[in-house]
Amino acid sequence: NSIFAHVVRAPEDPILGVTVAYNKDPSPVKLNCGVGAYRTEDGKPLVLNVVRRAEQKLVNDMSRNKEYLPIVGLADFNKSSAKLIFGADSPVIQENRVTTVQCLSGTGSLRVGGEFLAKHYHQRTIYLPQPTWGNHPKVFTMAGLSIKPYRYYLPATRGLDFQGLLEDLGSAPSGAIVLLHACAHNPTGVDPSPQQWEQIRQLIRSKSLLPFFDSAYQGFASGSLDEDAQAVRMFAADGGELFVGQSYAKNMGLYAERVGALSIVCKTADVASKVESQLKLVIRPMYSSPPIHGASIVATILNDRDLYNDWTIELKGMADRIIRMRQQLFDALRARGTPGDWSHIIKQIGMFTFTGLNPEQVSFMTKEYHIYLTSDGRISMAGLNSKTVPHLADAIHAAVT
Ligand code: PLP
Repeated sequence: NSIFAHVVRAPEDPILGVTVAYNKDPSPVKLNCGVGAYRTEDGKPLVLNVVRRAEQKLVNDMSRNKEYLPIVGLADFNKSSAKLIFGADSPVIQENRVTTVQCLSGTGSLRVGGEFLAKHYHQRTIYLPQPTWGNHPKVFTMAGLSIKPYRYYLPATRGLDFQGLLEDLGSAPSGAIVLLHACAHNPTGVDPSPQQWEQIRQLIRSKSLLPFFDSAYQGFASGSLDEDAQAVRMFAADGGELFVGQSYAKNMGLYAERVGALSIVCKTADVASKVESQLKLVIRPMYSSPPIHGASIVATILNDRDLYNDWTIELKGMADRIIRMRQQLFDALRARGTPGDWSHIIKQIGMFTFTGLNPEQVSFMTKEYHIYLTSDGRISMAGLNSKTVPHLADAIHAAVT
């Protein structure tokens, strides 16, 4: 008998499990609206042209080797990542008040930041928007923090619960950590307006809360890298401290390369360098040092004027296609006379539409139409194309009538 005979089978990850179920379905009309990855109009995964070109450059450069990177990763990558999120002329960079370390994509950045906080910060509570990306509660709990929700989404309006947000953060204990989606909130697609961000900033600073931004979609929401960084830059500009985790999974299509960065903005350069020394002690026993390939691709693109320009064009192309899918789905529902107000489909931002469909309606769509999505009714717009929109619209129409 195995010494592990008592181990019970764990449930499938609620998000990745959608794809597992989709893969098992033999139907020719099946549609995966669960996957958080970009697809072309032909429904294929996309490797960006600039990524191919950067990889060519790397392969041809015989001076490159496979030696270990430092614990904090590739220096060029870290510097360029900070510039990308804060802006090249940001005072936090000019004054050396930020430490940026390469991490294992967005998830790894959050985890390293969370463990640093659990070890070195006086407040162990992190407030998460409700709802939030399903991995957030697990990442921060495993990092040693305790999690609390703050109100974020109002089902009645399918928009921001701004009043609830201000009340909940207003009654958080001084110093508490607040997780904020930098743009394109997942799963709701609902972001605060610039004016609302400013009010959130004032509240956070007046209560000495610590903002921790999760930036998984820079450039992917609006098509503009600068616009999608505005919330982070607003906080960085006020001289206060903050954390930001960056991911290149979506905006460079580098999902499996696991390339991202954690930046910690401090009050002084001296504190930032001490913080970095402690980040090394978090990372070393976790995975020793990060992988080189993805970070080299990113550094190559960010440091080459032509590649960078072409990247912004490809990125805008992806963002625009998603926005077109929103319009097409909205038009298709209107054409069918589907009951209800579906304007949130075109108002929401980023990869996902939070449809408002309930778990019974979702399971009906899966059973009758072979359409796969998470039970909270979240649809990945990036997985749709002109040919699949009508099938999805038929399914939603049938589910709500
Ligand atoms: N944060 C949010 C809000 C996300 O949606 C995702 C990916 O789906 C991530 C972080 C992490 O992604 P990755 O670890 O692949 O960079």
